[in-house]
Amino acid sequence: MSIRKATVIRIAFSFLILAIFSVVSVAMVYVVAGYQRNNYYKLRKAQVSAAAAVIDPRDVQALSGDESDVEKPEFQRVIEQLTRIKNSDPDLDFVYVMQPRGLEFVFIADAENPSSPEYSSPGEKNEVSGYEELNIFEGNDPPVALVEGPIHNKWGEWVNALAPIVDDTGRPIAVLGTDVEAGKALKLVYNTKVYGITLVFGLIAIMALILSQWVLWRYQAQKAVHLKGKVRQSVDELNEELVRANRMKLEFIQLSSHELRSPMNAIAIAINAIGHQLKGQLTEDQEKLIEIAMRGSARLVDLVDNLLDITRLEAGNFILRPAKVNVKEIVENTIAIHKPQVSNKGIALKATLPEEEIEACVDMQAMVRVLENLLSNAIKFTDKGEISVELEADDDYIRITVKDTGIGIPEDFKGDIFEKFKTVEQGKDRRTGAGLGLAFTRSLIENQGGRIWYESKSSSGSLFGFEIPRYQKETP
Ligand code: ADP
Repeated sequence: MSIRKATVIRIAFSFLILAIFSVVSVAMVYVVAGYQRNNYYKLRKAQVSAAAAVIDPRDVQALSGDESDVEKPEFQRVIEQLTRIKNSDPDLDFVYVMQPRGLEFVFIADAENPSSPEYSSPGEKNEVSGYEELNIFEGNDPPVALVEGPIHNKWGEWVNALAPIVDDTGRPIAVLGTDVEAGKALKLVYNTKVYGITLVFGLIAIMALILSQWVLWRYQAQKAVHLKGKVRQSVDELNEELVRANRMKLEFIQLSSHELRSPMNAIAIAINAIGHQLKGQLTEDQEKLIEIAMRGSARLVDLVDNLLDITRLEAGNFILRPAKVNVKEIVENTIAIHKPQVSNKGIALKATLPEEEIEACVDMQAMVRVLENLLSNAIKFTDKGEISVELEADDDYIRITVKDTGIGIPEDFKGDIFEKFKTVEQGKDRRTGAGLGLAFTRSLIENQGGRIWYESKSSSGSLFGFEIPRYQKETP
């Protein structure tokens, strides 16, 4: 799924959660508020019913519901009762008795002070009472109390509780009313709604914040994964490109080295032959030129050989074929080949070999090449003294060291001498090549699971040593 689609789904999901939470929470607040209001209404009904029961119905029956009542002692008793009821609960704003006249209601008595503008005198019409109150007279048998409101009238908003005053036969003869100002009566209900809804919206805001962070976090995480994938893809592509370019480079070097090898060899052989044939017949200058040409062609042959070998090894075309060999014999033969070169230079070449034959399973070609490289370097950089080769073997490894008394490698030489094209800075004694021999040697050794090292001092020559596993897996 695309990041965009997933994000849109997450946003829609968040909205759905918020909407469900809002509806459920607001509904809960209203349920609690409704429950509180019902409880309050029940209390008021009980209160007004109890109050109606203490009013003597005979006193009420004695009243005619007009101004003349004021002088009657029954009226005074009713007023006293109403005042007592009003004083029993400071929340009650108005306490009064009224009776129906047709479809309307008129006041019979009012606990309010007669001098108050809110006083209703006997016979005065109650503007807000009507059908509902008539139910008390014409509805349930026995008549029951009711609570109504909030209702509006000219004095404000009210919650009124009304209960019937019944005669001895249980017939309703009047209604006792108690009014409480709505804000006061329903304070708890209003508070529950206000605080409840504020709390709900606070929670919704927090949830919206959390959900938006979640959507953002998922979006960023997905984007990061997507970017990572893209970077990885371009790295892979680049890598493939590099591998291809490297392969092309290796193939080119391999091809050109291979093509160069035969003519270079031919030139080197021809120059050597000319040099030997014309020895003694040439002037000193001509001999020097021949000498330079011989050295140069030998170096070129060496370079092309090394280049070809190292590229073959890197391209995986130099396949090692371990087989059963006699290592002592290989070392002896390689030394024998180099003997003439050494004696020409007037230096000694010694070998320290074990008494017994050393059987091993290694690639003979590779071992010869390594030995030849180390020996020819030793010969190249040694003008006096000796070169000694030592062979050792244990159950697991074959170890060979080539030690010379040549110019050595300076102690302060920095860098890896076994790296390609790495040579010690040229001095007048140093006849360096391209710096490929030791790199190729190390690759050969490491390809067999072995290692190579050197110890060297400018003053006392160098020691190059290597070890390779003695019993390598034989290839068929
Ligand atoms: P090359 O001999 O073709 O330059 P190598 O990789 O065989 O390349 O050797 C790298 C460098 O290491 C040489 O140029 C030389 O300076 C130094 N070196 C190698 N063997 C010896 C040695 N036996 N004595 C002194 N220096 C050596």
